[in-house]
Amino acid sequence: MTDLTGKAAIITGASRGIGAAAARELATQGASVVLAARSHGEINAIAEEIRDQGGRAESVVCDVSHYRDLAKVIETCQRDFGSVDILVNNAGVIDPIARLADSDPDHWDKVVDINLKGVYHGLRAAIPVMQEQGSGVIVNISSGAATGALEGWSHYCATKAAVFSLTRCADKEYRNHGIRVVGLSPGTVATDMQISIKSSGINPVSQLDPSVHIPADWPARAIAWLCTEDAAEFAGTDFSIKNDEGRRRVGLID
Ligand code: NAP
Repeated sequence: MTDLTGKAAIITGASRGIGAAAARELATQGASVVLAARSHGEINAIAEEIRDQGGRAESVVCDVSHYRDLAKVIETCQRDFGSVDILVNNAGVIDPIARLADSDPDHWDKVVDINLKGVYHGLRAAIPVMQEQGSGVIVNISSGAATGALEGWSHYCATKAAVFSLTRCADKEYRNHGIRVVGLSPGTVATDMQISIKSSGINPVSQLDPSVHIPADWPARAIAWLCTEDAAEFAGTDFSIKNDEGRRRVGLID
C-alpha cells in the first residue's frame, strides 16, 4: 500500500502524459499536490478535478527552464501545504528530433534548458527546504536514453545522461541529510511524446508498435511507490520498470 497522506508534492510537466497521471496518483494516495507546467488551462483543470474528488491541489504556471519559476512553485507549496515533501522533476521534451548535422543549435540549446537545467532548477529550489525539514524525496524522470544512444536523439540522450549524473550527485551530497533522490526509467509510455517519436521515423523506437507502450498510470504508480520507504534502497539509482522485476516490485504485475 502506497500511503502518502499528509505529504505535499510538486509535479513538473503535470499538464499531460506521465506528469498528469502522477499528479492524480499522488493525490489518490493522499498527498496534496502542486501541478506545474506552461499550459495554464490544463493544469488548472486537473487541479480542479482533484479537488472535486476531495483532494488538495493547486496549479502554478511554470517554465522549468527559468529558475525563478521553480522557486515560485516551491514557495506556493510551502505556503499552501506547509512543506515540500516530494518533488517530481518530470517536465521534458524530445522535439525537434534530428540527426546532429541537421539539428538547429538554438533548438538543441532549448532542450538542454528544459531537460537538464530544468531538473537542476528543481533540485536547487527544493533541496534547501528539504534540508531544513530534514526530509524529502525527489524523483527525476529518466529514460533508457540516459545510458543508451539513439539516432536523432543526441539532445535527449545527452540531457538524460546528465540528469542521471545529477541524481547521483544529489544523492551523494544529501543522502545524509534525510533527502532521497532517485531516477525513474519508465520504458516506453503511451503519451504525446511517443506520437512525436513515431512521426519522426528516425531510429528503432519510432518503429515500435504503439501497443507495446505502457499506460501513463504505470510510471505514475511507480513514482508514488518510489516516494515510500519501501523504495529507499534505490536512492541514487535509475529505477527501471521496463522489465518484470521492476514492475513486480512496484506491484504493477503479479
Ligand atoms: P508529454 O506527454 O509530451 O508531456 C511533457 C510534459 O512536460 C508536459 O506536461 C509539458 O507541459 C511539460 N513541459 C515541457 N516543457 C516544459 C517546460 N519548459 N516547463 C514546464 N513544463 C514543461 O511527455 P511524457 O511522455 O509525459 O514525458 C514526461 C517525462 O517522461 C519526460 O521527462 C520524458 O523525457 C520522460 N520519458 C517519457 C517516455 C515516454 O515513452 N513517453 C519514456 C522515458 C522517459 P507544458 O507543455 O504544458 O509546459
